[in-house]
Amino acid sequence: MKKLIIIFLLCGFFGSTAQDLYLHCGKLIDTKNGKVLIDKTIVVSGKIITGIENGFITPANSEAIIIDLKQKTVMPGLIDMHVHLEGETNPDRYLEVFTLNDADIAFKAANFANRTLLAGFTTVRDLGGTGVNVALRNAINKGTIPGPRIFTAEKAIGTTGGHADPTNGRKKELTGDPGPKEGVINGTDDARKAVRQRYKNGADWIKITATGGVLSLAKNGQNPQFTQDELNEIVRTAGEYGMKVAAHAHGIEGMRRAIKAGVTTIEHGSLMDKETAALMKEYGTYLVPTITAGRYVAAKAKIDGYYPTIIVPKALAIGSKIQKMYGMAYKEGVNIAFGTDAGVFPHGENGKEFGYMVEMGTPPMFAIQSATITNAKILDMEGSLGQLETGFLADIIAVNEDPTLNINTMENVVFVMKEGKIYKQ
Ligand SMILES: [Zn+2]
Repeated sequence: MKKLIIIFLLCGFFGSTAQDLYLHCGKLIDTKNGKVLIDKTIVVSGKIITGIENGFITPANSEAIIIDLKQKTVMPGLIDMHVHLEGETNPDRYLEVFTLNDADIAFKAANFANRTLLAGFTTVRDLGGTGVNVALRNAINKGTIPGPRIFTAEKAIGTTGGHADPTNGRKKELTGDPGPKEGVINGTDDARKAVRQRYKNGADWIKITATGGVLSLAKNGQNPQFTQDELNEIVRTAGEYGMKVAAHAHGIEGMRRAIKAGVTTIEHGSLMDKETAALMKEYGTYLVPTITAGRYVAAKAKIDGYYPTIIVPKALAIGSKIQKMYGMAYKEGVNIAFGTDAGVFPHGENGKEFGYMVEMGTPPMFAIQSATITNAKILDMEGSLGQLETGFLADIIAVNEDPTLNINTMENVVFVMKEGKIYKQ
C-alpha cells in the first residue's frame, strides 16, 4: 500500500479521479459542532467528500487508496479572508512599483500562492493588488498553477491621497490624477463607476480603504477618507452586481461610516472602542482582525530603515493596538472572521494568527471555526466549504497535534488536499 501511495504522489494525481481515497483520521475536527472526533474515515471521490465513516474503513474496491493520518488531527482546508498575493514585505517594496511589470508581479504571486496553499490555506480572499490577482485566480481555477481558491477584490478603492491611491508619495510629475478606473474616487458618480469597473475587471469582492492606513506614503493612518454618501453608493452598487464590500479601517469615524453603509467586513479595526463594537453587533458586521500584520509592522518599525520614515510612527501607534483591540471585540461579542493581511508579513505564516487569537482569550476551537465555517459563510460557500461533510468539496488538511491542546500546531500543516488533489503529505 505504501508503494501505491508513493506512485500516487509521484503522479501528482493530475486529473485522476478513478480511485477513491480513504483518509484514516486519528482525530477529526467537526467545525459545525465544535467537537474533536476520534477514529474516522473520510471517503473522497474526485473533488468531493462522499462519506464520513466511523472507524478505519478498508475499501472493498482494491483500486481505492488509503491515506494514513491516524497520528494526525484532520480538519477542513483553512480560509484566510485577508491576503495580498501580489506582493510581500521587504525594504524595497516602495521602489517596486516603479520597477516591476505585471509579468514580474505574476511570477512572484504564483510563488506566494503556492506557499499559502502549502500552509493549509485552501481558500483566500485577496483584498487588493494591481489586478494581476484576477489572472492568478483564473490560472489556479484552470489548474495551470497550484494555489488556493481565490476570491479577489482586484484593485482596492480609495479617495485622492487616500490609503488606496496608488500614486501617494511620488513627485508631482508622477502622481497624475488617477480616477475611478484606477480605483480612486471623489463623489458618488465616481463611486459607482469604480465599483462597476472592478466588476468589469473580474473582481469577486469590493475592497475600500475607509480610513488612512499604515503602509501607504501618507501622514494619517486613521482619518475617515470617504463621505457617508460615497460609502453608501459603493455598497449599494456592489450589491446590485452581486458583490459584498470589505472595508479597511483603523480609526473610529471611518469605521462607523462603513458599518452604517452596510459593509460585510471591517479589516483591522485597530482603534475600535466599545461603542463601535456595539455598532458592529447591531449591523452584524464581521471583524477581520489581522493581528499577525499588526504585530509584524510594529516590530519592523523599530528597525532603522525598514520602512520609509513617514510610516514608522503609524506602524508603532496602530500596529501595536490590534491584538488588544481584538481581545476587546471578542469579549464584546462582535462577529469574528479569520484574516491575517499576509503580504504585510511573509506569505505562509498565516497560521500564526490562531495563536495570537488564543493569547487574547479565544478558545482554540473558536479560532479554527472562524477560519473554516464562519469564513465559508461570509463567502457564501457554506454549502461546500468549511466543513468535513458528505457533499462538500474535499479541501482537507492535517496537523501533527490536536490544536485544541496546542494551537501552535496550526503553524505546521503537514497534509494538504484541495478538491481531492494532494499537494502536501
Ligand atoms: Zn491588507
